[in-house]
Amino acid sequence: MMNWSSETVTSSGEDYPGYKGLEEAGARFIGGACAVTPVLRPRLPDADRLLPYLRQIDDNRIYANFGPLALALAERLGRRFSLRGENVITTASGTAALIGAILGSVGRAGKERPLALVPGYTFVATAIAVEACGYQPLFADLGEGHLLLEPADVLHHPLLEKIGLVVPVGAFGCGVAQARWRRFRDETGINVVIDGAACFEAVSRAPGDFLGDIPVAISFHATKSFAAGEGGCVVTSELDAAQGIAMALNFGFFGARLCRSASINGKMSEYHAAVGLAELDGWNEKSWALNAVSAHYRECFAEAGLGERFLGAPEIASCYALFRCGTGAKTRALSEYLEARGIGTRFWYGEGVHKEPHFMSRASLPNVEKTAATFLGLPVAPDLHAERIEQIVKWIAMFLKAR
Ligand SMILES: *Cc1c(COP(=O)(O)O)cnc(C)c1O
Repeated sequence: MMNWSSETVTSSGEDYPGYKGLEEAGARFIGGACAVTPVLRPRLPDADRLLPYLRQIDDNRIYANFGPLALALAERLGRRFSLRGENVITTASGTAALIGAILGSVGRAGKERPLALVPGYTFVATAIAVEACGYQPLFADLGEGHLLLEPADVLHHPLLEKIGLVVPVGAFGCGVAQARWRRFRDETGINVVIDGAACFEAVSRAPGDFLGDIPVAISFHATKSFAAGEGGCVVTSELDAAQGIAMALNFGFFGARLCRSASINGKMSEYHAAVGLAELDGWNEKSWALNAVSAHYRECFAEAGLGERFLGAPEIASCYALFRCGTGAKTRALSEYLEARGIGTRFWYGEGVHKEPHFMSRASLPNVEKTAATFLGLPVAPDLHAERIEQIVKWIAMFLKAR
């Protein structure tokens, strides 16, 4: 393998972590025999792109606390979202954004309504965030074949009287429409905060649908399409709520150094804001490259007669390419088949959060479990080669033919 670009992470053999660990292991495993394509190989702004912003930090000598770079990032994001900088609160992570959005707009769980309803099909952070705010997570099933929770799934819940908060999730970056949830909130009096962690692209495309007075938490984690390494933001059209959220992310301080609310330290540092600004500078190119990967997968799957089984950008965030197998057993076998050929795959949301050891619940969520077992994540990188995509699709077609 001559081409050491997006493609080839090779194993030294010794402390080889298996394909699953490659995204974290990065380039430590160069030089062995086994060429693999990790399920996701992020690419963030390089040192040259960062340097002008790092120099600004040197000059400013402000490193944290909604400093000038974090405010500049909020301004630019605000413009993207057809809002103002004040409507965007930058955060240390997507999880911090969720916690800040909950504490700042709803507050900690109360005695009367201690439960927070979370769809079972999401990344664990959604449940971790509600738990950190004192709620007991309650996991909801989805409609058959659905990726998103709908108000109708919640309205007839037997524990509705005990639910103080609902956190709909924009799974794989599908935007969560505000209008329905606003109606739900107004009719039931139950608070709503949206986990739009992977929704940067959806929210940029249609801010009128996916942003509004319900706070939306977005992640800038390295694995998301738009990335700052770690980071995120909360977006809300309500300036009062935005202030409350900023306060909840900064020790309950607002103006004076007086702790006035339940809070954490979830602010974005100036260094992460620098990466975010540089990422915005190069976003058009990165977005184009990621969308080209998805388009090529779609084309190849269509040619193989498997077009309907592929899900990618623009329907979902461009950092995901998903392939649907009919059954869990078949999908598991496909995953092993591809991994044996050096192709990393991932069940992005595990078996559903309700199956995670910490949250292990006896709840059975048949639709979540089916979706979790049959949506397989395929490799994505902004510089994933066309030939590699063709090879992956060829292998998938061969696998399916053999069964
Ligand atoms: C990525 C993600 C998060 C967590 O974001 P971090 O920035 O990693 O804290 C939360 N929820 C969903 C659905 C995600 O995809």
